[in-house]
Amino acid sequence: MKENNYQSSERMDYNQHEKGNITLLGNKAYADDPMIFPPICIKCGSSQVEEKKFQKKLTYCPSWVYLLFFISILVLLIVYYLVRKQVDVHYYLCPGCWDAHKTKRTINAVMWLGFLGLLISAIALESGELGILSLAAFIGGLVTAVLASTPLRVDDYDKPQFLVKGFKEDFVNAFKRRSA
Ligand SMILES: [Zn+2]
Repeated sequence: MKENNYQSSERMDYNQHEKGNITLLGNKAYADDPMIFPPICIKCGSSQVEEKKFQKKLTYCPSWVYLLFFISILVLLIVYYLVRKQVDVHYYLCPGCWDAHKTKRTINAVMWLGFLGLLISAIALESGELGILSLAAFIGGLVTAVLASTPLRVDDYDKPQFLVKGFKEDFVNAFKRRSA
């Protein structure tokens, strides 16, 4: 039996559910590296995931490291690469959620292209209006980049386990049904 470090540190009124190497704690999940999810869509909880399997490397870095910004960017970068911990996450999306994700990525790419096109035109034509439009496209690019990114984030690391957050209620319920 592996040790469950998070049992002692978190409140015990959570229902815990296990499947494979993953234990669900509330709407967060913890496991060792690599974290391998069962074939359930991490967005909507559907089990019709076919072959839509994904792999992503998530990074955890303790928040005090970012305070080094006030000393030096270089020191921050060096310490970041020394202390960061990475976990390979294997997960599934159903075809519907995968299509929605692809649409968001396409909109994001269009935003960036629009930003570049408008910026170049604004400079070439010395147009203030086009400059404002390019700024709007830039903000649109940032917003859609967030929407198009994987929602999963490492919340905490307690050697050797990673605590990952960003799961939707539908996934949590499907996971509980599967491990029941
Ligand atoms: Zn889905």
